[in-house]
Amino acid sequence: MCGIVGYTGTKPAVPILVSGLKRLEYRGYDSAGLAVETDGGILVEKEKGKVSELVNLLNGHDENAPIHASTTGIAHTRWATHGTPTQENAHPHASKKIALVHNGIIENYKSLKTKLIGEGYIFLSQTDTEVLAHLVDSFYDGDLLQAVTTALKNVEGTYGIACMAQDEPGVLIVARRGSPIVLGVGENETIVASDASAIIKHTRQAIYLDDNDIAKICGGEIDIRTLDSGTVSREASEIDWSPDAAEKGGYEHYMLKEIYEQPDAIRNTIRGRMNTELGTAMLGGLNLSPREVVDIQRLVIVGCGTSLNAGIVGEFATEDFAGLAAEVEQAAEFRYRNPIINSRDLVLAISQSGETADTLAAVREATQKGALVAGLVNVVGSTIARETGRGVYLHAGPEISVASTKAFTCQVATLLMVALKFARSRRMSVEQGRQFVKEIDSLPDLVNQVLAKDKEIAAVAERYVQYEKMFFIGRGYLYPVAKEGALKLKEISYIHAEAYHAAELKHGPIALLEKAMPVVALALEGPGKEKTIGNIKECSARDARVLGIITEGDEEAKSEVDDYIEIPKCRLHAAVVPATVALQLFAYHVARLRGCPIDQPRNLAKSVTVE
Ligand code: GLU
Repeated sequence: MCGIVGYTGTKPAVPILVSGLKRLEYRGYDSAGLAVETDGGILVEKEKGKVSELVNLLNGHDENAPIHASTTGIAHTRWATHGTPTQENAHPHASKKIALVHNGIIENYKSLKTKLIGEGYIFLSQTDTEVLAHLVDSFYDGDLLQAVTTALKNVEGTYGIACMAQDEPGVLIVARRGSPIVLGVGENETIVASDASAIIKHTRQAIYLDDNDIAKICGGEIDIRTLDSGTVSREASEIDWSPDAAEKGGYEHYMLKEIYEQPDAIRNTIRGRMNTELGTAMLGGLNLSPREVVDIQRLVIVGCGTSLNAGIVGEFATEDFAGLAAEVEQAAEFRYRNPIINSRDLVLAISQSGETADTLAAVREATQKGALVAGLVNVVGSTIARETGRGVYLHAGPEISVASTKAFTCQVATLLMVALKFARSRRMSVEQGRQFVKEIDSLPDLVNQVLAKDKEIAAVAERYVQYEKMFFIGRGYLYPVAKEGALKLKEISYIHAEAYHAAELKHGPIALLEKAMPVVALALEGPGKEKTIGNIKECSARDARVLGIITEGDEEAKSEVDDYIEIPKCRLHAAVVPATVALQLFAYHVARLRGCPIDQPRNLAKSVTVE
């Protein structure tokens, strides 16, 4: 989490740092700060709150102030882990002649702090990061690269850092372990960031650091080493999306823009990956021979949050159509509970950013245990993509909204393709395969039909704005949809929304039903619908208002609910996508009507890179 930007070159650094921070603000908005070189010193400015607060502070410097002439600096937008969101805890943290920004957690900060206090260092913040700043200073004798290298060897935990020293003008030291750092290579300049979206305006040439890499950068010169060895070479790659892709493009919020991008995003996900003739999916990136596909005995899907919900759809579809045992597991739990894994398991790690710390840890654990491990990620060149070396990119384009939307639907489309691939190598006929291909192909159109109902959905949302709690229920493929719908609503509207399997309601949660607790019921036509209608009756009997997500033209379902949103008719594994889009719009409009900061929800940040 958090955003890091750094610049060394010939242009004024402050505007580049600030525009980079604005791009990265979705990664954390507890505080923002920067440090730039000024005549013989380092000037640090930082403020609690959003980047706009920092900008107000910077506006206090008059036009000719040295800060504006500086051509080297580092900046940070924070998602607090250690210490509350205050000005004192904001990054950069300084120690004598050194300033540093950090993403991650220094796990042994307490023992290091005690030692540094013993050496006379005075701490101004509660952060783990300030410990690192003083630690670097304690090893500094004029060579920042050396000091940071030695400091990092004494550190346990995760970090992406950018660091500068007053006595080494134009020099930035950056390093990573567990938190991404990308170098944007320009002419006589380098922009450093924790995310490519902060560099894309300046250059498309990107070098992604590996864990334990440390780089010394001065203008356009880049020297990358590992903590334990000399210079290493890391290839630059081209960022393949345009700066416009990361703009709001006329929409009020990134979330709405990304909801509307879904037809195109899904098209990009499935493009070139399906063979209509053979009725199968071609997922070359999985790098599995037909023999290996047949030999795999189990699919284990790991993920967190929205990716975990998509994983459930993958689990159901793989078992349903391929007859292959599948399970889905919360990635953090996977790592810590010592799962039984063997070489005939395919572990599929799902993460939009490809940097999710818990999912990455699961990837490493599964690799260690000898499984085949593949990534299902959106961000090209991200850590999970690189460490697995095999997988499927979503090609959904940058997802800026903290509440994930298009990543989910593209993950589902991909998981359906994975299920199809396994199904065709097992028990599915070519005819059934062709039918399945058609269904996946129809997803963008199904989404378009839901988007066309945006106004109707907004009108329905008005009737649910005043509630403070809500249940979502569904069964089968619609159970993960209920979970994703509840997750969206709680993330952006702060309504306490919980999802249950519709059958689970009677086993406890029904005790909470009353007038003030409406229920969103996924009751599409297909297996399980009649049972869900029964559950709806149970809710109505307890005075709960019911919003039904129902199949277009289903008069029976309409008569059972108070409000409804209609979804085009299709089989349930495909209906997951349009039904989820309807709930994304529902959550969006409820949050908008409640006046919530939709793109920057409280306490959240995009891409959870800490455990
Ligand atoms: N652990 C550091 C802090 O709390 C860095 C957090 C971040 O990644 O933003 O300040």
